Amino acid sequence: MSNSIQDLISNTDNVVIGGGGLAGLFCALKLAPRPVTVITAAPLGEGASSAWAQGGIAAAVADGDSPEAHAADTIAAGAGLVDADVAHGLAREASARIDDLLRYGVPFDRDLEGRLAVGREAAHSARRIVHVQGDRAGQAILAALTAAVRATPSIRVIEGYLAEELLTANGAITGLRLRTAGDPIARPVTIAARTLVLATGGIGHLYSVTTNPPEASGIGLAIAARAGAVIADPEFVQFHPTAIMVGRDPAPLATEALRGEGAVLLNGRGERFMPSVHPLAELAPRDVVARGVFAELAAGRGAFLDAREALGARFAEKFPTVHASCIAAGIDPAQAPIPIAPAEHYHMGGIAVDARGRGSLQGLWAAGEVSCTGAHGANRLASNSLLEAVVYAARIAEDILGQQVASPAPLTEQPVARNCAFPSLAAANLRAVMTSHVGVIRDRERLAQAVRSFAAIERDTGNIALRNMASTALLVAASALARQESRGGHYRSDYPAQSQIARRTMTTLAKAREIAEGLAEQQQVPQPITA
Ligand SMILES: Cc1cc2nc3c(=O)[nH]c(=O)nc-3n(C[C@H](O)[C@H](O)[C@H](O)COP(=O)(O)OP(=O)(O)OC[C@H]3O[C@@H](n4cnc5c(N)ncnc54)[C@H](O)[C@@H]3O)c2cc1C
Repeated sequence: MSNSIQDLISNTDNVVIGGGGLAGLFCALKLAPRPVTVITAAPLGEGASSAWAQGGIAAAVADGDSPEAHAADTIAAGAGLVDADVAHGLAREASARIDDLLRYGVPFDRDLEGRLAVGREAAHSARRIVHVQGDRAGQAILAALTAAVRATPSIRVIEGYLAEELLTANGAITGLRLRTAGDPIARPVTIAARTLVLATGGIGHLYSVTTNPPEASGIGLAIAARAGAVIADPEFVQFHPTAIMVGRDPAPLATEALRGEGAVLLNGRGERFMPSVHPLAELAPRDVVARGVFAELAAGRGAFLDAREALGARFAEKFPTVHASCIAAGIDPAQAPIPIAPAEHYHMGGIAVDARGRGSLQGLWAAGEVSCTGAHGANRLASNSLLEAVVYAARIAEDILGQQVASPAPLTEQPVARNCAFPSLAAANLRAVMTSHVGVIRDRERLAQAVRSFAAIERDTGNIALRNMASTALLVAASALARQESRGGHYRSDYPAQSQIARRTMTTLAKAREIAEGLAEQQQVPQPITA
């Protein structure tokens, strides 16, 4: 046990923040000089989707643009489920949060007159994406915030610890159980915490094909759900249509901008398949393209991104990151089509929070991708996630600062479940089942199989990390099974139409388990499944 962890146990007045991505670090900085402890599974700057963001942050800062237009685009993208007040609030506060980021040292790109340079992305009606050195926004933002955090004496950072359980008493947070990341048999450490902000990111690594780092395996969502927190819209998952399939996990991303430059999608026979799917062909909305690619792969025809004619020799210069990923895999994208597949990219659902970022348990706040504010509805508008992370992190800090410091509650000794070694094969199978059964195209039969399988893992496994993965997987699959319509990122081949009534999901792990039990009664002997 490190000294800093030992110190922390005796210093329980701190606000504890789980997660060191954009949401966690921004919240910690906004809380300064109030003492804060940030616990993160990976060293700062690593293991966070924030560092991988390529596009940037959406903010209506350009002449001729307005927060109202930004909110309208956000609402339109979300397929009827965006909370309009939340969308307007996000758009209005964007400019102030960009100013904060500038103060923390983020070197956003500027035009010749010194104004913030703004780019355009799909489904935005104006140029409003602030960026850094072209496609380096995430890396630059996280580097600046990491430096600011390291220079702030009130922030203590504990790296390399995984939060694996929330401790509660009478519906209020009392503490957090941690374990050294990657060491399932290490002794767990218990921290008293009555003010906890979860900022642990997304769920990409519950899928075998994802653009997210391994730390995004849904554990933050699972521990909140296991403690009884309400979870909103877990079935809404965004898949990026063009992850590069070169045997890497996570899969490198072939940015949408390539299609913007004229690159086309081909199947293995060399035929373009998108023109028959949507009038905008390769530039159709992200979920439509993802389904088009998935259908070709499911039919065994293969799917490729072909930039030979559109970019050719200019590829390396215009898209150096994608070019490097291809070359490392022995593919020269100027000469050959790039093999692709849809990949889990972003989770719209998460811990249900109100306008102050408060979850349903006393003492619990959540920010960033682990939360669900209602801003994204059934489909996220590009570059709104970094914005949501900073807007809600700032609101949470303000809310916490406005409260009395909660005196620490004595922690009663709680039994620690024995943990066995991480069962890699079972985890790989869970991820494969998420991709094949709870992925881009869903149906009742496969969702029901997935629900039964995840409920059984959740109940029976002796490994806490796998149990947490299964809890989140169960929430996603059970809510996808219950939603008998297609909307935004959720597509049911057996219910292809959008229902007349737009309704959000508010659920709990207990309700997801009930769905699984209902299925078990229908089929007495659950069959183990493999993807
Ligand atoms: C390749 C890629 C490109 C993207 N591009 C954009 C873009 O251009 N614009 C945009 O708005 N969005 C983009 N997104 C989405 C966006 O990056 C994320 O939604 C956002 O960064 C999430 O921030 P976060 O702070 O919530 O989580 P993260 O940045 O993922 O940080 C989570 C933190 O929690 C830690 N952690 C996880 N579990 C635990 C645990 N159990 N205990 C302790 N610590 C834990 C992690 O190590 C990490 O420090 C992109 C995502 C990807 C993957």
